[in-house]
Amino acid sequence: MAKCSICGTKIQETFMKKMIGTVVKDEKGKKHIVCNACQQKFSNDKAEMLKAKK
Ligand SMILES: [Zn+2]
Repeated sequence: MAKCSICGTKIQETFMKKMIGTVVKDEKGKKHIVCNACQQKFSNDKAEMLKAKK
């Protein structure tokens, strides 16, 4: 199961296998999954989410 790149929480999936959260790409094009809670915490600011990721 995928984990949030920021807080490490397991990302939940809906029945349609859609992840509850978002995917942010860094400057190298690598994908990082961010959970819904972190997405809200950073006001959906992808640059800030990338800074906060581990
Ligand atoms: Zn998170």
